[in-house]
Amino acid sequence: MGKFKVELDKNTCQEFGACVELCPQFFQFSDVDGKSSIEGAKKIMKENEVVAEKLELDKLECVREAAEACPYNAIHIMNVETGEKLI
Ligand code: SF4
Repeated sequence: MGKFKVELDKNTCQEFGACVELCPQFFQFSDVDGKSSIEGAKKIMKENEVVAEKLELDKLECVREAAEACPYNAIHIMNVETGEKLI
């Protein structure tokens, strides 16, 4: 298990693109829905649509910067060890 849980809320994402610009090694625009998508993340489905993506990481690298830059607050980060919600 990773030290951090990252969650992208696809319904909240408005394709603004800050995450893709700041952290392209993790975030890319999806060819399917045009919204942000996290490389290697588990996809959470609801009625054939991806509603969220979840990824566990030991190092946040640029993911925190991307989450802080999202104007819609669509990216959330939790510290798994402490349960603290960072963003
Ligand atoms: S910055 Fe936020 S709204 Fe913009 S693409 Fe990334 S997740 Fe979506």
